Amino acid sequence: MTRKMKALIKARPEPGLVLDEVEVPTPGPDEVLIQVLATTICGSDVHIYRWDDWAQRNIRPPLVIGHEVAGRVVAVGRHVEAWKEGDYVSVETHIVCGRCRACRTGNMHVCYRLQILGIHRPGSYAEYVCVPAMNLVRNDPRWHPAVASIQEPFGNAVDTVLCESVAGARVLVTGCGPIGLMAIGVARAAGADWVGATDPNAFRRSLALQMGADQVWDPTREPVLDLIMEATQGEGVDVVLEMSGHPAALDLGLKALAMAGRVALLGLLPTPVPVDLTDGFIFKGARMYGITGRHMFQTWYRVQAFLRDGKVPLERLITHEYPLEAFEAAFCQMEAGDCAKVALYPNLELVRPLHGLASA
Ligand code: NAD
Ligand code: ZN
Repeated sequence: MTRKMKALIKARPEPGLVLDEVEVPTPGPDEVLIQVLATTICGSDVHIYRWDDWAQRNIRPPLVIGHEVAGRVVAVGRHVEAWKEGDYVSVETHIVCGRCRACRTGNMHVCYRLQILGIHRPGSYAEYVCVPAMNLVRNDPRWHPAVASIQEPFGNAVDTVLCESVAGARVLVTGCGPIGLMAIGVARAAGADWVGATDPNAFRRSLALQMGADQVWDPTREPVLDLIMEATQGEGVDVVLEMSGHPAALDLGLKALAMAGRVALLGLLPTPVPVDLTDGFIFKGARMYGITGRHMFQTWYRVQAFLRDGKVPLERLITHEYPLEAFEAAFCQMEAGDCAKVALYPNLELVRPLHGLASA
């Protein structure tokens, strides 16, 4: 007899999601089944919800979506030895082949046959999700499931900030979405001398200050380049962390970059953009990094060290919590923008919300 579970499905190639019953997946020999305690909404899920061009190119409905998750192992495949029922885990969402040149040279995060949970295979907006056992990461039982779930985007922030040291550096974060906000906290905890941040959204700018930014600006209303130069004695910032995906922010970042500085790019630019590499980059003797996913699994060790250390106040970034059934309200909140991370609970009877459920 097959068991059923509730799940949020991109049922058809059109905007929206449907809450429906589907079969509980059966783990293959190298997989585990996780009962989902918390699953958090990523910006890419909002693209899938809206059914924009990117979603239309990447998603084949019907599909259970969602990929940021924490939960409990409830069944393991016959080859799985490292995990057992009851283990409290989070999930690296990049599912890799292990055989390609990238995988075999320590670069699994850019596997040539990369598959992403909730994009290329059924995801975590459900009571249960099935993943390869090698993708599990063990959680400290003291971590709330919503916080344990956001380790995945937190890993993006950690890789962007720490692709080089920031100790003693003056750092600019452009874009205070959830990942930019996390990056501010990481830069601070990793010894940055000064952290400035930009975002047009006032709610997010106020969270940026709570995460430890020294100065925050609205780039649409303030002469930010002049203000950065004032704050850095005319020298500019050693480190630019581009977390908005907005061409104007990249332009500002290159203009504000100090001599011999470094730029790390996480924000996805929707189209190719013209930038002044000659003066903004080459003559500065600067370095640039593209950041994608998380190193497997070095980043996770760093992520968990930050969680244990407690200096990055990640709980503050869980701004809204909903039962899975209230997904429409949750996605409306994401679209409105006055939020950081939004958590969904598919098994609410098993979890006490971190701050309390939002009124739907
Ligand atoms: P988000 O969309 O919530 O945040 C982007 C923020 O940038 C928003 O708060 C927005 O108000 C702000 N912004 C818009 N224009 C700006 C400007 N001109 N200057 C400064 N800020 C501006 O996104 P997020 O979830 O925090 O993710 C950040 C970025 O990283 C997104 O572009 C996302 O697509 C990308 N991303 C990349 C990876 C990767 O692996 N490379 C992984 C996750 C997310
Ligand atoms: Zn590979």
